[in-house]
Amino acid sequence: MSIFQYEKDQDGIVTVTMNMTGPVNAMNAEYYDAMHETIAKLEAEQGLTGVVIASAKKVFFAGGDLNDLLAAKREDAADFFVSGEAMKADLRRLEKLPVPVVAAINGAALGGGYEICLSCNHRVAFNHKTVQIGLPECSLGLYPGAGGVVRLSKLIGVEKALPLILEGKRLTPEKALAAGLIDQTVESLDELVPAAKSFILESKGNEDAAVQPWDKKGFRIPGGAINTPRNAQLAVMAPTMLHQKTRGLMPQMTAAMDVAFQASMLDVDTALRIEGREFAKVATGPVAKNMISAFFFQLNQINGGASRPKNVEKQLTRKVGILGAGMMGQGIAYVSAMAGIEVVLKDISLEAAKKGKSYTEKLLAKRVARGRMDEAKAKGILDLIHASDKNEDLQGCDLIIEAVFENIGLKHNITKEIEPYLSEDGFWGSNTSTLPITQLAEASAKPENFIGIHFFSPVDKMPLVEIICGEKTSDEALAKAFDYTMQIRKTPIVVNDSLGFFTSRTFGTYLDEAAQLLTEGTHPKRIDNLGKAIGMPVGPLQIQDETSLELSRKAQETWAEMGVTDKWGNGDVIRRVIKDMITDNGRGGRHHGGGYYEYHEDGSKNIWPPLYDLYYNADYEISDQDIKDRLMFRQVIETMKCLETGVLRSVADANIGSIFGIGAPAHTGGFVQFVNTYGFDNFIQRCEELEAKFGERFACPDIVKERAESGELFA
Ligand code: NAD
Repeated sequence: MSIFQYEKDQDGIVTVTMNMTGPVNAMNAEYYDAMHETIAKLEAEQGLTGVVIASAKKVFFAGGDLNDLLAAKREDAADFFVSGEAMKADLRRLEKLPVPVVAAINGAALGGGYEICLSCNHRVAFNHKTVQIGLPECSLGLYPGAGGVVRLSKLIGVEKALPLILEGKRLTPEKALAAGLIDQTVESLDELVPAAKSFILESKGNEDAAVQPWDKKGFRIPGGAINTPRNAQLAVMAPTMLHQKTRGLMPQMTAAMDVAFQASMLDVDTALRIEGREFAKVATGPVAKNMISAFFFQLNQINGGASRPKNVEKQLTRKVGILGAGMMGQGIAYVSAMAGIEVVLKDISLEAAKKGKSYTEKLLAKRVARGRMDEAKAKGILDLIHASDKNEDLQGCDLIIEAVFENIGLKHNITKEIEPYLSEDGFWGSNTSTLPITQLAEASAKPENFIGIHFFSPVDKMPLVEIICGEKTSDEALAKAFDYTMQIRKTPIVVNDSLGFFTSRTFGTYLDEAAQLLTEGTHPKRIDNLGKAIGMPVGPLQIQDETSLELSRKAQETWAEMGVTDKWGNGDVIRRVIKDMITDNGRGGRHHGGGYYEYHEDGSKNIWPPLYDLYYNADYEISDQDIKDRLMFRQVIETMKCLETGVLRSVADANIGSIFGIGAPAHTGGFVQFVNTYGFDNFIQRCEELEAKFGERFACPDIVKERAESGELFA
């Protein structure tokens, strides 16, 4: 039986039901053949009155086959273009059939799936939350190259199509209808194909119903072509804004915008060819590989539980105790309650605990105001949080997360005092950002049940949780922490214990290198601008202000107390800066009245002027490339050391952890993938240059040299 079922009814309507081998329909070799054959059959069909494209799978059609796309090599770009054109020619033949073609969208139609729909004359979708419609390719380093950019631009106009394409928006059927992506919705699956057929029957005698807008005589693109005077502003502003957002590091987005602009001025066939040619470049380029690896394969690997012990049954957290209702505790309470978990939020006073609970109240009120939640549901969630100052309320918690001040003595005392309130097989998680879990667990009567659960600020927005196993942490505790993280809909990476774990330690190198550059005499704005130019979300000095210099000072103090000062490298420079900034000038960071920057009430900021007197040297010469590489290589090298020493347990954890937890530039695919793409020999050579010029902190880790020998990529 063909994988595209072909059924003609008494009215002359053929329903093509896509039912490919495997769990989903996807654009691969099997699809090309099936579609090619089907089109030929439709063209030859006698008495044909219309075509319905339907799906036998839960998902209407999943899009391009990412395994194929990942394998496509730069040197094969020309062949890639040719085969792409053949596939697109079939879709063009589909839309040129002399009868109406209707897409019956029963499930998600994203990317290639929606591009098939765009090649139909009419689109009907089942109005259900499982049905998502859109073109998310840009988020994987690609763009809609099977006609998506051209057809959507011509269908709804460039100005409306571009945000959907560049941001990769996934719309519900209702929103897709409002935005003009589909034409009709039905309320049940049973109505879907009949509705598609009704459209065909009602269109009898109306030849227009079988012709795409762009194939009609005198077609004008909605909103006009990009070179018309009314679009002058769009033509100038859109590329500028895109560059500001992506810093030119996302070639797929630049190309998509260019293709959309050209599509607005050219006939459909020429535009489709340009779309295909650019796509061959983008899809065979490094950014597509990096982003597909990280955001599809590695993220799925992590969320699929690759780092979770297999021998432990899934455990749901029902009651969680949170100690400390400060910045972190209040956020952890919110995300836990949102997942339906009962929360006891404890602080030293009831007032402080209630203040922490009010954070959830504020976030819920915002949701209600925006129409994203009803009042009853919001109240139900808020009621799950019990603000308290009494240990007894923690009785029976199956998980307690400690988020009090970063002080080892305090954390030890609290563990001893409160651990007995855990349920019989309960677990203890510490949200410490720097203290080693093994050492914290020394205060515990059951160190096997003790684990690090490291959240990022702001907890409600940051998608990552770093789970840290101490020396004695059991598989059960790890599984529990993993399951809890998934329960609150965050992505867990699992690392082994070390001072600063993976994320804090690596992030610290970004700040440290900025301090080095600053004290050498580099202009502070230049440091921040070049930090952003490599794709980091925020410049290093600014982010140091946000997380606070004060925090770095405290960390230095704690490490001194623990006797681990400079365990990972020389901290003289950062200590000098802390002394200059905090001790001598009281500049502890943004929330301490200002740091490297001065912050004004109107939201503006500028470099704190005395900073120039402290460090700036107009005669200091250093190239932009050296600054950029120093900021990037420090973080990459630290990540490699974590991988080498087993702090990181997998490449997927390293890449996803670096992007979601540290802000590693998405186009690199993460700090480990950066080395794969840079090339081992090139990386070693650049490390040697940086080491010779700027110091041994740039020495290339052995693990890279070993891979250079074997040629095996990090995967
Ligand atoms: P915070 O100062 O905002 O809050 C700490 C809270 O703990 C305060 O409300 C305090 O009253 C309370 N507290 C102190 N002693 C207590 C006790 N004996 N019992 C109950 N509550 C007590 O601090 P924070 O920024 O929320 O940080 C908390 C922990 O999370 C620290 O270990 C920190 O290193 C870690 N962390 C912070 C961040 C961040 O970005 N701020 C990120 C990850 C982890």
